[in-house]
Amino acid sequence: MQGNFREHAAMLRGLGAEVVEVRLPAQLAGLDGLVIPGGESTAIMRLIRLYGLEEAIRAFEAPVFGTCAGMILLDREHLGLLDVDVERNGYGRQLASFEADLDLADGEEPLRGVFIRAPRVTETGPGVEVLATHEGVPVLLREGRFLVASFHPELTADTRVHERFLELIREESGVRA
Ligand code: GLN
Repeated sequence: MQGNFREHAAMLRGLGAEVVEVRLPAQLAGLDGLVIPGGESTAIMRLIRLYGLEEAIRAFEAPVFGTCAGMILLDREHLGLLDVDVERNGYGRQLASFEADLDLADGEEPLRGVFIRAPRVTETGPGVEVLATHEGVPVLLREGRFLVASFHPELTADTRVHERFLELIREESGVRA
């Protein structure tokens, strides 16, 4: 609809995935996963309602990866698919955009995070797994088939988060089959 979809598509293609752009509900049928990109959450929310995608996304059963504005859309206050509260533009005016090395929960090499007027996670439900933090605040989270990042993994050369999403798709397609 809006935002960084091209960068996500390029990265996923580079990892061997077949990518289609979704603008209409029918285009969701048969997909193994959905990425909701960063951009402007109010604009994306308005457009998905206009095109009837809101219900289609609620009915979609495969893994969903939301980055930045995409994470906002999935939260308790919007689509309500993720048990997380976020504060839009929650890193304040001066720190509106920044880069930082993120600590990964599994002790892997840090991940470079690009934050652009990013949402800040303020509360997570018990089923939410924190995969990376920045100064103690969760920035990469997983809840079941949902993976969300408050930063932009599609804007660096590090493909680990997208690889994790493709892995989630492989795991979940086994479960649903
Ligand atoms: N600030 C944007 C919003 O509130 C999100 C920014 C982004 O996706 N890079 O929707």
